Amino acid sequence: MPELPEVEQAARTLGEQIVGAHFDGTIRCSWLKTIEGHAPDVLGAQLVDVMVTGWRRRAKWILLPLANQLTMAAHLRMTGRFVVCGRDEADIPQQRVAFGLRDGREVRFVDQRKFGRIRLLTPPELHQLETAHGYEPFDDALTPTVFAGLLQPTKRIIKAVLLDQTVLAGIGNIYADEALWRAQIHPQLPANQVSSAQATVLLDAIQTVLRQALTNGGSTLRDYRDSYGAKGSQQDNFMAYDRTNQPCMRCGTLIVKTVVAQRGTHFCPQCQ
Ligand SMILES: [Zn+2]
Repeated sequence: MPELPEVEQAARTLGEQIVGAHFDGTIRCSWLKTIEGHAPDVLGAQLVDVMVTGWRRRAKWILLPLANQLTMAAHLRMTGRFVVCGRDEADIPQQRVAFGLRDGREVRFVDQRKFGRIRLLTPPELHQLETAHGYEPFDDALTPTVFAGLLQPTKRIIKAVLLDQTVLAGIGNIYADEALWRAQIHPQLPANQVSSAQATVLLDAIQTVLRQALTNGGSTLRDYRDSYGAKGSQQDNFMAYDRTNQPCMRCGTLIVKTVVAQRGTHFCPQCQ
């Protein structure tokens, strides 16, 4: 599932192509559940001659602010991706919805697994989405002290806390495993047993691995593509994730995979 770096890359590469363009209100939808909250024609009526004024990411959401004060919000879930192309180009396999642009192009949402969702948010709904999520990992307000304070009150295992979007936003299975490996913390350590020194190291590890992944356009294990169709390359830098039975880069012990917090979890049993 796309995490912060992949969603950021997908949002940026979509924004580069359509910020300043106008939707024309036409929608072709072949999987109704992709569009949430409104019937496609009702949503389309709110997009007639409406300019996309910017792009940003919040947690794992792609947000496109529109000139009519609404925000188009998209969640890629497992396999969603955007494609921008000419309206006369053939439909893409697994294409679920296509939004017409006034300049003759279309913004298409392709989604093999069909879990991706797109909706229009009013300002109060946008506020609700913002407040439903925790700190962004690069928020200046997220100091090591604040981060340690988030971990202290809970006996939940650290990996579960890292995956909890109401605590930290945007981290999923890949970057949780990678950050914990870098910080040499066992994924099942109760969060309230993470020392303040370890919390400082862990926050730095989270930011370092996410920054590296952003530089590399995210990770592509199977389906992920950015909005130009390009794969990421962060998978070439994995230290723990997807390295089951391969030697730990630090100590040579074989990386093991177990289930932690209901998720396949990769770690070094020796140095974490
Ligand atoms: Zn090791």
